[in-house]
Order: sequence, then C-alpha cells, then structure tokens
Amino acid sequence: MHESLVNFVQENEKEQFRLLRQLVEQQSFSRFKAGVDAVGKWIADSLRGTGMVLDVVRESELGDQLVFRSPAYRTGVPPLLLIGHMDTVFPVDSPFNWFKDDGQKIFGPGVIDMKGGLVTAVFALKALAACRLLEAIPLTFICNSDEEIGSPASTPLMQTEAARSLLGLGFECGGLGGEVVTGRKGKAGYLLSVKGRAGHAAFAGADKASAILELAHKIIALEQLNDARRKIVVNVGVIKGGIGPNTVADAAVAEIDTRFLTAADCVDTAANIFRIAAECAVPGTSAELHQTLSRLPMVQSAGNRELFRVISGQADKLGLPCLEELRSGVSDMNTIAEAGIPVVDGMGPVGDCDHCDREYMIRDTLPSRTKLAALSIVSSWEYFR
Ligand SMILES: [Zn+2]
Repeated sequence: MHESLVNFVQENEKEQFRLLRQLVEQQSFSRFKAGVDAVGKWIADSLRGTGMVLDVVRESELGDQLVFRSPAYRTGVPPLLLIGHMDTVFPVDSPFNWFKDDGQKIFGPGVIDMKGGLVTAVFALKALAACRLLEAIPLTFICNSDEEIGSPASTPLMQTEAARSLLGLGFECGGLGGEVVTGRKGKAGYLLSVKGRAGHAAFAGADKASAILELAHKIIALEQLNDARRKIVVNVGVIKGGIGPNTVADAAVAEIDTRFLTAADCVDTAANIFRIAAECAVPGTSAELHQTLSRLPMVQSAGNRELFRVISGQADKLGLPCLEELRSGVSDMNTIAEAGIPVVDGMGPVGDCDHCDREYMIRDTLPSRTKLAALSIVSSWEYFR
C-alpha cells in the first residue's frame, strides 16, 4: 500500500506542478471573492473522480467555503480533518503576480502560503483514492476563504468540524529544516484610545492634558511587558494622534499586538494591558481599551506530540527530515486545537518569505511532502481510530 501511494505521487508530479501554477496565477486576496472562488473551482475540479463529496457554504462578500468528505465519512465516526486556506495577502492588482520556476525554487504569490499546501492535500487525497483508501478512511477536507483576515466567516464552521473530528492536519508550509508544527503561539490585539483636552500650544504650560503625552507614557509601560523568558511579545505597531504642532492633542490611539505560549500568559498579559490603560500619568486625560481579536495558543500537547511521532515515523520511511517546531505566528490550527484533539500544522511543502514578493517554495518538497501526507493520513487513522 505504502509503495502504491508513493508511486501515484511520483507518476503525477507534472500534474501537481500544473495545478500549483494554476492556483498561483489566480490572484486570491481574501476580499477578492471571484479570485478565491476560482481557486476553489480548480480544487473541486481536481478532486472530481476521487469520490470526495463537496458541500459548498456560500458567502456573499468573501469566497465560498468548501467542505469535502470522503466516501467513508459517517455521522458518529470521528474523521480526520484536513485544513487549507485559499486566500492570500496579495491584492488583486499586486505587482507580485508571477509564477517562476528556476528548477530549484518556485516563486509566486501564495506559493507556500498556502497554495502549495492545498496541492499537497489534494494530491494526497488523489493518491488515497487511487488505492481505494478513501472508502476506508473517514475524512473531511476544509478549504476556507478568509484565513489571512483572521477567518471571520469560516471560524464557526471549523469549530463545528473540529469538535466532531479525531485529529487535525494543517497544510501551512513546513519549516526550512523539514519541520512539522506541533505548537503555535496565541495572539491578541488591542486598540487603546486616549482622550485629552485640546488647547493652543502657545498658552499651554506643563499642566496641559495632552493625549499624546499620556499615550507616550503608556507605550513605554506596554513595551516593558515583553518577556523573553516566558516568550511574551507586546508590540505597539501603530500610533495616531493630534492635528498639528500648535495644538495640544485631545486624542491619540495605539494599536497593539501581543503573542503568548499559554492561555495563562494570555490572561496575564491582558490584565497588565488593562492596568496600564487605567493608570494615568497626565492629569486630565482618560483612556479606553478594546480587545480587537484573540486566538488562543495551540499548546504543544501530548496528543500533538503523539501525532507528530506517527508522522515522523512515516518521514523516516521516506528518508525525509522531520523535526518538531513551535511556530510564532497563528493559523487556523489554533482554532482547531481548541477542540482538544491532536493537531499538527506545517504539513505543506517547504519554503520561506511568505507575505512578501520573495515568497518561494523548494521545488522538490512538493512531491515529497505529498507522499508524507498520504502516508501520514493512513498511519494516523490506524493509530488513533
Ligand atoms: Zn499567511
């Protein structure tokens, strides 16, 4: 069985790169519905004939969500859950719009984030179908449309599917050393608004109620929350305020991003930020704080590590490197992990520089990661069922 799966991927390498090219050449910015839907159509076309049954969740503004289920899927039998997003961060008119293959690396928008991962999952499923394994392994494959903007529409769908699943495999890119991701930091964002009292700069003395001055005090306190030991990150990334140098600022705002490894660190950091917001160094000013988004960490649980060991056992068979990674950025697997099932991410091909015009994939890793995915699906089903 092992050999027929590997052979199928080898025999279909050209088709894999062809689908990759189609997906990369189709711009699919999260808010470009027609582009995301076109990517979905290529994926659905490619899975035709595998027996995967497609359920489309229509969206009016964003791309539709696709939910594929294998012929073995039965209510009440927890399936494997595979996840990949179809959107990218690149606007429809982005100058980064090429597909370049130099024989070693492939460059293009979304080539590893995460059209490469989608192709990996699709061809792993095609290999399983060719070996009639989709009739034996219950499996759900979600292609969502909005990961790069925080998955506002697809989160409830993912939560529902995660709750009824056996385990989760995410197809974001693998690490440069062949890593698979067993944990991810959590993330919370905040908007801090400070109000002061406007006045003419020429007549305002030291006792002016400047919103900018108060915000400056708060920014220094916020940045002091960075903690290298606990790997807590606090970044004030945007500030705005004031209308001119001759005016005392009556309003100023800061946008804050925080990252943490554990739910407890999330709570602690939030408490500290609320405390700093409530403190007042400049009399006459006041502040308001709103949490704008929050994703819990994907903790490196015993279940995730067990799943990783099953996958690295298959990597050994294929002679592929497979190390464990704790990744700083968040993905949809943070949401899937909340269901308490074993999850890993980074099952896609290897590459780097995503979210910028140097984004690339290491060419060989598309077929090799596809073989790994196909074998891992079979072995994780056998191990966890
Ligand atoms: Zn991304």
